Amino acid sequence: MPPAPQRPEISAATAAALAREHWGLSGQLRELGSYADRNFLIEGEAGERHVLKITAEASEPREVVELQAAALGHLSERASAALVPRVIPSRAGPLLVASADARDQACVLRVLSWLPGQLWSERSAPSAALRRSLGLALAQLDLDLQDFEHPAMQRSFRWNLTTPEWIADELSALEPGRQRERVVDALAQFRARVAPRLSELPHQLIHGDANEHNLVVEGDALCGIFDFGDTLAAPVICELAIALAYAAMVPDPVQACAEICAAYHSRRALSTFELDLLFDLIRARLAVSVVSSALAHAHEPDNRHVVASEAKSWALLGTLTDFGRRAVTKYIAGACGQSAPVPVPGARSRTRLLAQRRVRLSAASSLAYDSPLYIRRGEGTWLFDEHDAAYLDCVNNVAHVGHCHPRVVEAASAQLATLNTNTRYLHEGILAYAERLCATLPEPLSVVFLVCSGSEANELALRIARAHTGGREVVVVDGAYHGNTSTLIDISPYKLRGPGGHAPPPWVHVLDTPDPYSGRHGDDGPAYAAPIIAAAHAARVRGEQLAAFICEPVMACAGQVVPAPGFLEAAYGHARAAGAVCIADEVQVGFGRVGDAMWAFEAEGVVPDILTLGKPIANGHPVGAVVTTPALAASFANGMEYFNTFGGNPVSCAVASAVLEVIADEGLVANARETGAWLRAALRELDDPGVGEVRGRGLFLGVELVADPETKAPDARRARAIVEYARGRHVLLSTDGPARNVVKIKPPMCFGPVEARILVTTLAAALRATS
Ligand code: PMP
Repeated sequence: MPPAPQRPEISAATAAALAREHWGLSGQLRELGSYADRNFLIEGEAGERHVLKITAEASEPREVVELQAAALGHLSERASAALVPRVIPSRAGPLLVASADARDQACVLRVLSWLPGQLWSERSAPSAALRRSLGLALAQLDLDLQDFEHPAMQRSFRWNLTTPEWIADELSALEPGRQRERVVDALAQFRARVAPRLSELPHQLIHGDANEHNLVVEGDALCGIFDFGDTLAAPVICELAIALAYAAMVPDPVQACAEICAAYHSRRALSTFELDLLFDLIRARLAVSVVSSALAHAHEPDNRHVVASEAKSWALLGTLTDFGRRAVTKYIAGACGQSAPVPVPGARSRTRLLAQRRVRLSAASSLAYDSPLYIRRGEGTWLFDEHDAAYLDCVNNVAHVGHCHPRVVEAASAQLATLNTNTRYLHEGILAYAERLCATLPEPLSVVFLVCSGSEANELALRIARAHTGGREVVVVDGAYHGNTSTLIDISPYKLRGPGGHAPPPWVHVLDTPDPYSGRHGDDGPAYAAPIIAAAHAARVRGEQLAAFICEPVMACAGQVVPAPGFLEAAYGHARAAGAVCIADEVQVGFGRVGDAMWAFEAEGVVPDILTLGKPIANGHPVGAVVTTPALAASFANGMEYFNTFGGNPVSCAVASAVLEVIADEGLVANARETGAWLRAALRELDDPGVGEVRGRGLFLGVELVADPETKAPDARRARAIVEYARGRHVLLSTDGPARNVVKIKPPMCFGPVEARILVTTLAAALRATS
């Protein structure tokens, strides 16, 4: 948060002298409350009143004070002239600059006319008529400011409602609990629903702070709006959202919102688009208010102006959240004579979909969460349900560069509209992609096969390994999952040891998971690899031969395990000594997810003979790949054609190429490194004895839950409860590991610092709720 403003230190006597000297004003001075300025009311002999406003240049650049004066000058010639103060010029011009305060700070002084009447804040129960009057006045003000331009109107400061994300860094100022979670939710919904659309909204100068201390009323009429200190260029709808965040602090907030909006709409029409974002904007403003109040407590415990509306802000945030966006928006839209916005048309009922699914799909295909989600659209790191409520996707490593990334969508659409066929014709797309992919890989990985899934990639990898070595047997790591075909289930202990599983066939050798946290050999990597020697020997005794050692360089289903140091190097050594080839399955962890490099094997000091890729490779379009060496590729080309109907088609190649471009252009590997490091450190600070370990690399992390930190007994029940709790707070996670006691985190790679803070706060709440 920016430093607290330096209010000018000027006594009433000094202020009176300045007013007399430069404006020829004399009379009684009384100090008025202000957040950042020093304001005096000057009451002359004949009862005429003026306000002397003194602003420290350190807290407000001069051009911003000039902007305010210019805006007031502009309005003085418009319909809302009577609503706003007039600027009374000094003998030297509208503003006076002086080193007038006790600390010798440069200050800007101005005098404004006084608006007679009562403050809105002094009204215990504003009437419906008064609310309507506010709506009309704000609309008029916005209409009058529509054609105003000033070089300083693009302002970045913390009350700018288009940029509330700074509160993500200050969430710890709030007490943990329900209220903090509401702020997190308001921030999340803003980030997901509003932030990406801001630029599409009509922008102009707005007053930007129509709170109850800045509104003057007389009877049932709003007769003044002052304090242009927060004026800025912003989406016009922010004017209304900000006003509502105060004027709705009444027992019937939704009704109040509806009345103000309807009146506003009658003078300046609100679009369906503006109405759709209004609720989230109001809540974002309230979230900023309560966080600011919490921070101000620390800086200025007795500035009454700062903390005045804190309790009411919390209450309004709570009520609006409880009513929900849909209900509030529908009510407001109805009051404006509009139908409710439908952000995602065509939604069915969840219940009907569930029933239909039970009939038409196999029970073997499971749904996530106790209460399954109906997801209708995705954008960046966010998913949206049938009501357009946003969910933070912390687990989809397939939507690698972000859900529905526009460049990926564009690449797919353009190619789909041009050509899609198989690889039996020459086409530049597949070659461009193969070149681009190999450019990220060390020699001798230089021959590419394109397939349609991770499973197909691993199947093909096994075939290549067997063709090259003449062997059949495979060494795998416990807890591993390599795919859904019959052969791959046989080499996936994760499935074999789970429900419906069976013993590994004799040609499969299973190593202990090289898990430094709970594995049998601790962090002695080579010790986990040593049994490969015996496996090779056993195969030979049976007249067989090892074909492959297959392993993920960071193990996903095994529980997001970074292998014990030296494991892969030793394992590759033993496997190769036995005549086997080494397959790195980077279906989950490839393409920069680990943050420090494009490929996870790079940190392990090894280069595989075969690399298999999938999931993130084309951001959700079904693509997989095998990259191998010229020697292995030659062994595989034994006369039997390898044909894959869909593999490597021009659309797949265009999409996969777009993904590589976006990874590079958007610096996603660096983001995985930096956001991942912050996340890991923050998760490690979560003080809970049930968190056995936080581990992982880049944006591939795991939080292992244990019932007892001594015995490290897995606590699957709690891991699941945490995931369900987070789902209830619109944060999507899942569990993994053979005991399903690891909460896994592997979001789209555009997951940024704000998302990371939302996730950590939610996980902290989930831990408290489940302890
Ligand atoms: N290997 C690993 C490490 C995986 O995680 C998966 C999928 N979870 C696969 C292979 C299989 O990929 P697919 O589901 O695309 O067939």
